[in-house]
Amino acid sequence: MKLICKVTGWIIAALALMMPVGVCAKSRNAEQKRVSVIPNPKSMVQLQGELKIDNKNIAVAVSDTSLSMAADYLAGCLSHYGKPVVVSDNDKADILLLLTAPDSLLSVKGAYRLVVSTDKAVISAADYNGIINGIASLRQLLPPAAKKDAGKKFLSIQCVDIYDAPDYWWRGLHLDSSRHFWTIDEIESYIDLMALYKLSVFHWHLIDDQGWRVQIDRYPELTGRGAWRVFNQMDSACEAASVNDASMRIPRDRMRPGENGDSVYGGFYTKQQLRHIVSYAAARGIQVVPEFDVPGHSTILTVVHPEVSCNGKPNSSICPGKDETIEFCKNVYSELFDIFPSKYVHMGGDEVDKTVWKSCPHCKQRMLEHDIDSPEGLQAWFVRQMELFFRNNNRTLIGWDEIAYDGLGSETAIMWWRGDNRAVVSAATESGKHVTCTPTSCLYFDYPQTDAEIDKILSLNPREGLSPSQQRLINGLQGNVWCEYIPTMERIYTQILPRMLALSESAWNADTEKRITPAEFWLRLPDHLARFDAMGVAYRMPDCLIVKIKNK
Ligand SMILES: [Zn+2]
Repeated sequence: MKLICKVTGWIIAALALMMPVGVCAKSRNAEQKRVSVIPNPKSMVQLQGELKIDNKNIAVAVSDTSLSMAADYLAGCLSHYGKPVVVSDNDKADILLLLTAPDSLLSVKGAYRLVVSTDKAVISAADYNGIINGIASLRQLLPPAAKKDAGKKFLSIQCVDIYDAPDYWWRGLHLDSSRHFWTIDEIESYIDLMALYKLSVFHWHLIDDQGWRVQIDRYPELTGRGAWRVFNQMDSACEAASVNDASMRIPRDRMRPGENGDSVYGGFYTKQQLRHIVSYAAARGIQVVPEFDVPGHSTILTVVHPEVSCNGKPNSSICPGKDETIEFCKNVYSELFDIFPSKYVHMGGDEVDKTVWKSCPHCKQRMLEHDIDSPEGLQAWFVRQMELFFRNNNRTLIGWDEIAYDGLGSETAIMWWRGDNRAVVSAATESGKHVTCTPTSCLYFDYPQTDAEIDKILSLNPREGLSPSQQRLINGLQGNVWCEYIPTMERIYTQILPRMLALSESAWNADTEKRITPAEFWLRLPDHLARFDAMGVAYRMPDCLIVKIKNK
């Protein structure tokens, strides 16, 4: 990935002069390094000294074989610095991953303790995800690169004692693979970045009007034809913008000759690749929630299978009046259930154009049979059919907030997305439904990014105004990344960074009083930007940091 910014060293120097004493830790003195962990740990004490590890032999050990995947993941992260080895003797470990019984501190799922002494670093937790969260904090304590000292290269880690636990279990990041196709390597790097900030749910929007990305054995033409397209209007707009911005150029490695002598663009994931991503994410404490969005956003589906549209022609909506449409959706979901083990599966349900339903004899007949008096009622009936199917397959349906009033069971979850429709959070939780919050007002990461977005995210509190029992139904927060006009990963990272760090803060610490302030966020951020530089990850340079450099 192209390096966007290499000036973070200057920013750090500028900000070091401004930093108030003791801002990051209870006992830091002038000689100690700043500890810039995001999200802010529930408790962090900065201790005297550093742990120094020879980079030629970074020994990692685990207390339990169930942590082997975590050790491999950590070793992969450490290979950036030198030569990690997984050892069986805990006494010889520089970094020990320790599974413990859940005590009063570690009883919350995902909680961990990280103690770095001058002898070793120990991450203890009562569950796998707690270990993974501890690894994320350790990764943030590591320098961007190993330092040379007396001819040897060392990893220096500030001594700390951190106890930490998440408030929300759904700390999500979404990705749209329909509007543009992302390779498996790119998906892995996206998941790696999520893990660095303790994000826990990867919401994968795999299917939409513009492209079908999932191998479905029963309907092979969905990927045979539906995964490829000649450039559409959005693609052409991206190409036009690429004249001034190379990150807007559609990658040529995703193009191939089409049947008509033209070039087609796209790609899809085999089941084997999708299962690989599921296990890759699980090793990093992340579950994958797939989305097949119906009954709207179905143009490519009706292009390939016009028999499921009302009039046998391509349409943005499928026909809920036809039995074969219902069967078709169930068959696709069955294959998705077989690939993705997550409890939640996303059904979409948003922005449904119901125009053709009004004149469709199948839809009219369905409405007559079930005493339905409006197209909205017909959509609600369709969603309830899917809900029943999910329930019978031991899955829980989650959908965009349009489905909140469709007469669904309390186990079905809602994704609040329309920022001006906050009342849906109250209404859904009142009827016992869980809600994941991803409002357009600050968590749509494809929208322009400004410094002010950080303040909005850090003050977002969906629990506000809810009763204690309703508050417990808030799953958490998620950032969405719709990719109509985002054709490269470089563009994605420039859109989501650094505001994804603010999302991580607010999703980890539900209580706004416990979160870092925007001022503290800006102080900690340069250390993270330096790491992104070392990783070769693009980001947007916040205006306020540019101003500080100029003023220095
Ligand atoms: Zn119809």
